[in-house]
Amino acid sequence: MIIGLTGGIASGKDTVAVMFNDLGAKIIDADKIGNALINAGISGDNVPAKIVSFFGNDILNNSGRIDKKRLADIVFKDRKKLESLNSLTHPEIIKNIKKQIASQIASVVIINAPLIVEADAISIVDKLIVISASMENQIARLRARSSLAREEACKRINAQMPIKEKEKFADFIIDNNNELEETKKQVKKIWKELCI
Ligand code: ATP
Repeated sequence: MIIGLTGGIASGKDTVAVMFNDLGAKIIDADKIGNALINAGISGDNVPAKIVSFFGNDILNNSGRIDKKRLADIVFKDRKKLESLNSLTHPEIIKNIKKQIASQIASVVIINAPLIVEADAISIVDKLIVISASMENQIARLRARSSLAREEACKRINAQMPIKEKEKFADFIIDNNNELEETKKQVKKIWKELCI
């Protein structure tokens, strides 16, 4: 069974993925795949080369690789540019996810993917879990783990599809607004249903 795990930024996807992993699920992390893709050296017409040709050499660091912070500063200010970046990276990320799924032997595989709804990739999963967290919790958790100003944190949250919209596609919704123990209880309940 292939399960999609999604939600907004800092909603608790990684936290919940660890809980499912502890119960025996195999986790595929779309962000890790995306980061490896962007960190790869520029060569021929690979994805990093296409990104640089679209955004210009200013996004490169001294070692000639893409500086993710510079790229993030550009795309989170401009929705159209964020969409362009996603259209360059998503097909390759989805290809990689499908390849990893094909090689799995675990009975439950969870794809931790923040943009599964936006990328129109719901069809690759059997069930979708959406992690729900209030905007105030997202802001607080985002700021607690980074140096983002409140305004910048809001900008990043608002650049994404609202969690309420994602919930419309969900088979399961996990409310991650309270103590982690409360979240774990919901995870265990869903796990039981998935394993029946
Ligand atoms: P990203 O979108 O950046 O990948 P994410 O959705 O994976 O983030 P996490 O990294 O799991 O979110 O959580 C964001 C932060 O909030 C982490 O520091 C995590 O420890 C904390 N956190 C998650 N859930 C809770 C909770 N229920 N109570 C308190 N803190 C939490």
